[in-house]
This record gives sequence, C-alpha cells and structure tokens, in this order.
Amino acid sequence: MDISYILNILGEERGNYFNAVAPPIIQTSNFAFNTVAEFRDATKDELHAHLYTRGNNPTTEIVRKKIAALEGTDDCLIFSSGAAAIAAAILHSVKSGDHVICVESPYSWTYYMLTQVFPLYGVTTTFVDGKSVENFENAIQPNTKLIFLESPNTFWLDLQDLAAICNMAKTKNIITAIDNSYCTPLYQQAHQLGVDLVIHTATKYLAGHSDVVSGVICANQEHINSIFKTEFMAFGAIPSPNDTWLLLRGMRTLPMRLEKSAGNAEKLINWLEQHPKVEKIIYPFHHSHPQFELAKKQMQRGSGLFAVLLKTQDKNKIEAFCNKLQRFLLAVSWGGYESLVFPACIKEGSDYPVNFVRFYAGLEEADVLIEDINQALSEI
Ligand SMILES: *Cc1c(COP(=O)(O)O)cnc(C)c1O
Repeated sequence: MDISYILNILGEERGNYFNAVAPPIIQTSNFAFNTVAEFRDATKDELHAHLYTRGNNPTTEIVRKKIAALEGTDDCLIFSSGAAAIAAAILHSVKSGDHVICVESPYSWTYYMLTQVFPLYGVTTTFVDGKSVENFENAIQPNTKLIFLESPNTFWLDLQDLAAICNMAKTKNIITAIDNSYCTPLYQQAHQLGVDLVIHTATKYLAGHSDVVSGVICANQEHINSIFKTEFMAFGAIPSPNDTWLLLRGMRTLPMRLEKSAGNAEKLINWLEQHPKVEKIIYPFHHSHPQFELAKKQMQRGSGLFAVLLKTQDKNKIEAFCNKLQRFLLAVSWGGYESLVFPACIKEGSDYPVNFVRFYAGLEEADVLIEDINQALSEI
C-alpha cells in the first residue's frame, strides 16, 4: 500500500456519509440498533462494532486503520495522550513481581512511570545504556517481561539497534515496545524491525498542528485484542471524536510536513556546524553522531528535532540567546508547524550540560530560521 493511498483512501467510507470528501465528526457516545439480535451481535465485538464510543467510534476508526497501515501492523488503538498509550503498553506487558528493562533517558513521564508509579505495584525496572545489545541481555532477570525502547530518544538522540535487540528478546519470550515518536512510521518502521508494540505520541508529528493531545499503540491483533479488553476499555483513556478528526486532518499532510521539518533541520545543522559559537551538533544523521551508521541502517531520515552544545558554560548567556530568538517559541513539545527552542537549563538540577539547547525546526522558511539564530548568537 502506498502512503497516499493510506492517507487519502484507506478506511474512508464516503458512501455512508453523502460522499462527503472529508468524513464527519461522529460526535456521539452511543449507537442505536433496529433489533435485539443486532444489539446482541454488537456487544460481542466492541473493537469493531459501533456500540459505544469508549470502545469504537467511526471517526476514530478511520484513523486507526490508517496508522496501523503506516506502521504495517494488524491494528492500532488511539488513546487520549501519548502518556496513556505508554502506560497501557507497560500495563499490558507486566504484572506484579515482573521486571522491565528500559533504555536510559526515555521520555520524562515514561521514566516517572517506571521509577515512581510501577514500583508501587511490584514492577521493577533496570535502565541500561542502549548502545549495545549486550547491555540489554546482561540486565535480563528470570522475571523480565518487557524491553522498552525509544530510538532515537528526544534529547540526546541516542539509538538502539532495534533488529538485534528484538531478535534477542524473541528468543527469551520478552515483549518489546518502542516509543517511535521521533521518526513517525514514515522514517522508521519499527514493527518490521521486530518490535511488538509500537507507540507514538500523536500529539507531535502525526497530528502536527499543536492543537491535539493523543497517542497510539500499533501491534498485531493478539496484543491489540488484549490491550483493548483490559487497559483500553477498563481504564477508558480515549480521545474525543473531535480530536481524532483533527488528528486525521493533520495526517493528510504528514509526508510534506515531515519533509519540510526534516529539511529545515538539515539546513540549520549545515549552517550551525560551521559556526564558531557551536561546540557540537547532536543529530542521528550528522556524521559526528556515534551511531550514524546504525541510523542509516534502520531509519530513512532524521526528523526536525536536534540539539546543540553552545560554546559557553554561562547560563545567563544561554538564557539571553534563547530570549533573543524571535521565530523559535520557548515551549515544550515539538512536531507542530512552529519552530521551538528548549534550553536544558530550564530543568533545575538536571544532569544535562548547561549549554545543551534543543531545537525543533518547524515549517518556516529555512533562511528566516537561520537569520534568527544568527542574530541571537550575538549573545554568546
Ligand atoms: C510528548 C512525548 C510523549 C508524550 O506524549 P503526550 O501526547 O504528551 O502524552 C511521549 N514520548 C515522547 C518521545 C514525547 O516527545
């Protein structure tokens, strides 16, 4: 299936809604039946029937089909946030007494869940340097049930060798999960590399307009059926049909947005790497990245998120630089249309170097962004 078929045609049933090109927002909580027999049938398969919107909603269902097809999995579930999807994936994989191996420096709330929340329920986690498969293998305990990956992660842009780790995990019957948000399904097909549960925060590139919070898990039908019955239906962290409609609308232009954002990042990096006030570029597709070869092996391209170390240890200068930027908004998140800057010195007492600054390249003209950084670098 080609990408434009998935984004424009797959899952759309225009004959059911007046041949409208854009599908309606089916803003309803429940669905009515003509007969008791039809009603009864629907209760038998809530994942596919239209019975109650906590289980399945026609607007949301279109997006489920498209994201599953992009990831190459049987099915996909959409949650009310990326964090809800991550929580559901972990809950699905472990029970009290089990052990998780997680790559070090995952998304901050993944780290919080695994260090502060899951231990309350008897689930322990070992964090490992993800650069070698042996580190995962050496951390395995008899009760290890899940290996949680994030490649690349979104600050240090560190990678893990997905195929090698998944091959190893399969021989030991350990479930693998990845937060694949940085790449989107267009730049890294994690399921094809062997990962069981592929998670995205749809808040970032998939929705892409900084107006929706949601998340997804893509997996084979067996995993999805189990997650649906337990974590999805029982906890009920579902998005509204209005939000999944916005997600669908955002996804129509995913390939062009991603290309523009990634292209802008490349142009910014090409300019920044020459600059005397820049000490280091941190980007998976930069020749200086220690895992550049692995990046080329398992990713199609880097996306719009990268970091730099500036040539100063003066926090005030870093702050003045960020304050002087006009076209990069000072904000969390990424993956939208607007360029962003996130200096690590925001995090009090963090172990990031003070001169670490993360950029997200949005959809503006590259020369405008370069000019903006150029004028702000006068503060360094
Ligand atoms: C933002 C983010 C999340 C969390 O997503 P929400 O939709 O905000 O819950 C998870 N993983 C990564 C890598 C993120 O950047």
